[in-house]
Amino acid sequence: MTYFIGAGKSFNVVLNHEDLSDPAEWSQEKESLLINTRKEFEGWDPVLLKIIGMIGNTMKWPLYSSSIMRRSVSGKLVVLGDAAHAMVPYMSQGAAIAVEDGVAIARSLQKVKTKDEIPLALSIFEAARIRRASKMQEAGLLNSKLWHFSDGRIQRARDEAMRPEV
Ligand SMILES: Cc1cc2nc3c(=O)[nH]c(=O)nc-3n(C[C@H](O)[C@H](O)[C@H](O)COP(=O)(O)OP(=O)(O)OC[C@H]3O[C@@H](n4cnc5c(N)ncnc54)[C@H](O)[C@@H]3O)c2cc1C
Repeated sequence: MTYFIGAGKSFNVVLNHEDLSDPAEWSQEKESLLINTRKEFEGWDPVLLKIIGMIGNTMKWPLYSSSIMRRSVSGKLVVLGDAAHAMVPYMSQGAAIAVEDGVAIARSLQKVKTKDEIPLALSIFEAARIRRASKMQEAGLLNSKLWHFSDGRIQRARDEAMRPEV
C-alpha cells in the first residue's frame, strides 16, 4: 500500500507480512528495520525493491483485530469506529466503517421525535452496525490469510481464482 502524506511531502509505504514473534521484542532501530525489511522482501518485484531502497524512516507495528462486539451502546455511552470494531487493514475499510457509523447514528437520531425514543433509535443503530462491522472484521481476517500464502499449489490456485478480478 502506498500513498502520499504530509501535504504531498512524504510518500508512505505500507508493507504487511506475517510475523508471529513477540512485538515487545521488536527493535524500532532504523538500520535493523531496514535490513529486516530488505530480507523479508528479497526476490520480490524489482520495482518494490527499488522503493524499499529509497525508504528514509521506518516504523514497524503489530496488527490486531478486536473480537466481535456484542454491545456498542450502554445507556448514554455509544462507542464508534475502531474503539468498537478494530479490524486488520486487509479490506482497507476501518476508516470507511467509522465514517459509516457516524452517518448511521445521525440517521437513527434524526427519526427521534421524543426523548423516550432515543434508546430504541440507539438499539437499532447498534444492531445494524454490529452486523455490518463484524462482517468487515471477518473479511479482513480472511484476507489476512489469503494474501500471505507461501509460493506453491495453494498460492497458485488463489492467483487463478483472483485472476478475473484483476
Ligand atoms: C496501515 C493502515 C492502513 C489503513 N488503511 C485504511 C484504508 O485504506 N481505508 C480505511 O478505510 N481505513 C484504513 N485504515 C484504518 C483506519 O485508519 C482506522 O480504522 C480509522 O482511523 C479509525 O478511526 P477512529 O476515529 O475510530 O480511530 P482513530 O483514528 O484511532 O482516532 C482515535 C483518536 O483518539 C485519540 N485518543 C486516544 N485516546 C485518547 C484520550 N484518552 N483522550 C483524547 N484522545 C484520545 C487518538 O489520538 C486518535 O486521534 C488503515 C489503518 C492502518 C493502520
